[in-house]
Amino acid sequence: LLKEAFAMSEDTRQEDKGLTRRGFLKTSGGAALAGVAAGAMLTGSRNAFGAPIPKKWDQEVDVVILGYGTTGLPAAIEAHDAGASVLILEKLDWLGGSLLRCGGGMAGANTIVQKALGIVDDTPDKLYNYVMACGEGFVDPELVRVYADSAGKAIDWMIEALGGQPVSQWSIAEKPLSLGPGVNFGATPVFYEKYGVKPIMECHWFTPVAPKRDKTALAGGTALFKILDDATKARRIPVMLKTSLQELVATPEKEVLGVKAINGEKTMHIRAKKAVIIGTGGFIWNEQMMKKYLPSHAVGGGKGVVVVAIHQDNDHGEGILAGQAIGADLATMGHRPPDTSTVGSGGLKINTKAEVLDVYGKPIPRLYAGGRATGGLMSNQYPSCGTAVSTAVCFGRIAGRNAAKL
Ligand SMILES: Cc1cc2nc3c(=O)[nH]c(=O)nc-3n(C[C@H](O)[C@H](O)[C@H](O)COP(=O)(O)OP(=O)(O)OC[C@H]3O[C@@H](n4cnc5c(N)ncnc54)[C@H](O)[C@@H]3O)c2cc1C
Repeated sequence: LLKEAFAMSEDTRQEDKGLTRRGFLKTSGGAALAGVAAGAMLTGSRNAFGAPIPKKWDQEVDVVILGYGTTGLPAAIEAHDAGASVLILEKLDWLGGSLLRCGGGMAGANTIVQKALGIVDDTPDKLYNYVMACGEGFVDPELVRVYADSAGKAIDWMIEALGGQPVSQWSIAEKPLSLGPGVNFGATPVFYEKYGVKPIMECHWFTPVAPKRDKTALAGGTALFKILDDATKARRIPVMLKTSLQELVATPEKEVLGVKAINGEKTMHIRAKKAVIIGTGGFIWNEQMMKKYLPSHAVGGGKGVVVVAIHQDNDHGEGILAGQAIGADLATMGHRPPDTSTVGSGGLKINTKAEVLDVYGKPIPRLYAGGRATGGLMSNQYPSCGTAVSTAVCFGRIAGRNAAKL
């Protein structure tokens, strides 16, 4: 695993060397220079940030969704059900992102599962208070409020509307999974003592097992993935595999028009008539970003490498960087629990509509995001196993619905 992790980090380094233009964009002087240089070579009208506007688009749909994962799938389903035409671009040649490999815990309050199990005293308010406590003053209360109110509904939606496994096959974790420092799936006992808060017991499981990539084994994350994957396929929502977001295409006023993506050797421009939704996950595999935001956990630089090895190989932060290149702000960047790599390292700043905000706090028109590509919902204490998946599903749904309304 370690060998694989280092090999991947070397790949990332090589890729990053090729991305000198992106490096350029990190400074305002660089952005201007890169704009002039690229503008001279490319045909379309030049945009100050992101990719140039092409003269001709390769494809047009209402909503372009980046990432066939925990955020992208609910976004696609909701946007489709609201009447929009949708296209999902997935960087890898397999589907599912972290969802497929995750343990399958999903947090939410006041669900039909809880009711069936006789748990009647759980409320979104309790979830709100707990997630706010875990945020230790760094999280956005409005985002947490929306999350707490919609998390239980998201579980009900997956079971009732999308035909997920029957209620009787779900269970609730009796306590948050917390194995202490080193392998931390939830806030630690030290945290509870410090703040005097009670842990939530809202993590819903469908036969939890060790994470697997095998989606034929219907358990844990594979079961959650199957619900969303089946629903996406039933709607015939198209997906382009091995197609990676490179840059966003936006007007000089930063209205997002579409994306520039790469499929093998082929660069393509896809117009999003309504919106682009970023669901590309976090940045644990991007060594430069790790060094910048989480230096003590940078690949090869500490215990983070072990966690990287068992976690994602798809999180290169491309969605975050693409948003930043057109002026998006970041939230809770570098905040995260000491070891888990996939749950709260920060990312694009969003509002309660899942709109990506610029550095002045204004929504960037037609740009939405959710999941680990965003920040603001979790800080140093990961609340509990289950909150990572459910925050992604909730804001994916919100993004999909709002994008379709445009
Ligand atoms: C082993 C493991 C166990 C976990 N267990 C749990 C658990 O039980 N409960 C819980 O709540 N959380 C758990 N988590 C965390 C949780 O799974 C993640 O936080 C969550 O799934 C992330 O959702 P996401 O939509 O942000 O990213 P993902 O679901 O990973 O989706 C991102 C998708 O975008 C694609 N992509 C990336 N870059 C690009 C690009 N440039 N262009 C196009 N596509 C791109 C990726 O390939 C991927 O398919 C676990 C994670 C792991 C790895």
